[in-house]
Parts: sequence; structure tokens; C-alpha cells
Amino acid sequence: MTDQIKRLIENLEKRQIGAYYAENKNEAVCVVNSLICEMGKTLGKSENDIKVSWGGSVTLDEVGLRAMCAKRYDALDPYSAPDPAEAKREALLSDVFLMSANALTENGEIVNIDGNGNRLGALIYGPRSVIVVVGVNKITKNMKEALARVKSIACPSNAKRLLRDTPCAKTGKCGDCMIGGATICSHTVTTRFSAIPFRIKVVIVNESLGY
Ligand code: SF4
Repeated sequence: MTDQIKRLIENLEKRQIGAYYAENKNEAVCVVNSLICEMGKTLGKSENDIKVSWGGSVTLDEVGLRAMCAKRYDALDPYSAPDPAEAKREALLSDVFLMSANALTENGEIVNIDGNGNRLGALIYGPRSVIVVVGVNKITKNMKEALARVKSIACPSNAKRLLRDTPCAKTGKCGDCMIGGATICSHTVTTRFSAIPFRIKVVIVNESLGY
């Protein structure tokens, strides 16, 4: 583990945010599973009764977490549900919510931009536990770099992936758009502290994951 990551873990813990390290995707799956099972034990639930849901994330797919959770837990996938909007509302009361982040500063701040806001709603309040899986490519020196990363890398890549007709999808640069049904930057949230101690947990994976 690098000194940068050691510092980051210390900084997250000062913010009452759980911090875990995984060398690769396989280790990340083990860490996430153990965190989900721990929450199950706290709630007195057997594995297949633990309600797990997630926000849209390339990282979660790359690590294989959505597929793993669908097999092992009482999983709610809002993206394949018959009524995705209603499923996203239901996900706000899951036992465990999985997501990634758009950037993570060395100081331990988690930075995200969201279009609908369901992912950030869940991060802020609702699910009993939130697990944020982040590749080392998303670690930035400070907030300025984090916001620049979000606008120049995360948003253009996600807008393209989601086939959104936005300036960033076409040019790679933010045009500060406000286009109904297209804009993916409705809400910008910086998480600097977890008021409920260690409800939010960050799993840092020593690989490049997502955007
Ligand atoms: S505001 Fe619009 S153009 Fe700028 S990054 Fe967000 S979606 Fe792209």
C-alpha cells in the first residue's frame, strides 16, 4: 500500500467514514461481501434476506459486484426493474447500497455528480450502510482537482456511455448545459463527514476502475 493510500485511509477514518483496501478486483469482492455480511449479522438477517441495491456505476460492473449480489443477497437492481423510477425509490431503504464515486480527495472527501439524484439520495440518508468502491484512478490531490476530474473525465465519459446529447459527450468539455433528459449534472455533493459513524465505507481498489 502506498503512503498516499495510507494517509487517505487515516483521513477517511477521521471523518467517521470506514476505509478498506483491496489490491485487486477479487479482493474488493471479498471485502464488500464481508461488509454486507457484517451488516446482515447486525440486523439478524440471513444472507439471502439482506436487501442490497446500488446506483449506476461502471466500477461496480467491472468488479463484478452487481452479478455477485444478484446471486447471493436479496438484490434490487433498479436498472432492470419493470419500473426503474419506483425501484430507485425503494432502494433508498435498502440494508446496503453500493456505489462508486466520481472522485476521492487525498484528504478523504468523496465527490459526486448525479443526474437524477437517486445515487446521492442514498449516499446521504436512507440505506443502513453505503459501500463506495473506488479505483485509485479517482484519487485526487484536493477538491479543485476533484471537481476538474469530474467535469473533464467522469461526466463526458458517462454522458457518452449513456448516449446523452450533451456538449461534453460531443466535445469532451463541459458546456454548463441544462437540457431536460440529457444533462447528467443536476446535483454536486461533497461528503466530508459521516454523521452516523461508519455508515459510509470506502473500499479503495489498487486498480483503475470506471471513469
Ligand atoms: S453540465 Fe452538461 S456539458 Fe457540463 S459536464 Fe454536465 S452534462 Fe456535460
